This record gives sequence, C-alpha cells and structure tokens, in this order.
Amino acid sequence: MSIVSRRPRVGVLAVQGAVREHLAALDAIGAEPVEVRLPRDLVGLDALILPGGESTTMRKMIEAYGLRDPILSLAGAGAPILGTCAGMILLAERLADDALPLLGLLDIEVRRNGYGRQLDSFEADLQVPALGDEALHGVFIRAPIVSEVGPAVEVLARDPDGAVVAVRQGRVLATAFHPELTADRRVHQLLLDMIERAVEQPA
Ligand code: GLN
Repeated sequence: MSIVSRRPRVGVLAVQGAVREHLAALDAIGAEPVEVRLPRDLVGLDALILPGGESTTMRKMIEAYGLRDPILSLAGAGAPILGTCAGMILLAERLADDALPLLGLLDIEVRRNGYGRQLDSFEADLQVPALGDEALHGVFIRAPIVSEVGPAVEVLARDPDGAVVAVRQGRVLATAFHPELTADRRVHQLLLDMIERAVEQPA
C-alpha cells in the first residue's frame, strides 16, 4: 500500500513555458497537478516541476513573484524537484555562460542551447537504466548541454554521442529533454516514487 494515501500534490511552475503537458502527465499517473504562480501555491506541495521554456524569462518571473526563496524552502524540506530543459538550467549550480545560478540545487554546469544550431531540435532514443530496459524517447528543443557533473550527481542517461542528458542528486532530478511531450510517463512516475521515499526518510 502506498504510504502517501491521498493523491500526491505536485506543482508545476506556471509562469512561462511548457506547463500544460506536465499538468496532463501528472493527472494521467494519479497525481494532483497544481499550477504554481505565487508563493502561496507552493504550500502543501509534495513535489515541484520546473518546466521547459525560456530560462531567462522564467528566472525573471521567479524573482519578480518572490518564488525563489519559497522554492528553496520546499526543496530544503525534502520535496523532490524535477527540472526539464529550461528547468534544468534553473536548478544548475553553474552556468557556462557566466550567468549567475538561480536555485543552485544541482552540482552540474550547463551550457544553454549547447547543441547549437545544427541540432536546434532533435529526438533520440535513450537508455535509462534507472527506468528499466525499454528505451526512453527524448525530445530535445534548444536543449542545454550538461558540461560538468559533480561527484554527488548520478548520471541517469546520455545521448547517443555520450553527453549527459538526465541526472539525479538526492531529491533533485533533471532532464535536458522534454519528458512531458511523449506518452511515456516513467520520468514523472520516478518523481512520484521519490515522494514516497521522501516520506519514508524525511529530510
Ligand atoms: N534554450 C532554452 C533556455 O535556454 C531552453 C529550451 C527549453 O526549455 N526547451 O532557456
């Protein structure tokens, strides 16, 4: 039996970007999706998703709405966080273009739009051992490149050229691709599984 007996409440930062597909993905696997625009929307969440979009805009909105500190408090209280694409950039401790990090919850360095023009957008089948044998189809849209990974960071997947495209550090999970744009729900399910583990082992 599940330890979280009610539907887990999972927020999706809804200031900009690919919000709707994440909300639908959460609903499809039995979580209660919550749109997060203001600090009060974060109250009582079991986990939070930072979606893809335009990270510079998202960063400005997060700061303008006073969301940065309450997001850090939620993470500090042990709620799992998933960042996808621009969300990964917001989570990173270091940015290769010298911009200041926003949340700094993941010991990685990322380079925005790191795949460059030739590969502006592409799709690739990814092996993700933590999610089972079946390949995961990754949709990459002006994706960041993970240029450095710290020792506490677990690499969950690499692209066909060997670049890191999915990582986990404790309760923080991030993908350079967009798991909400395919029908495979294993990344969102992993976030829900991390909630169960967070309940078993409080921060
Ligand atoms: N290139 C975008 C950025 O740097 C991220 C793209 C995405 O989230 N699909 O913010």
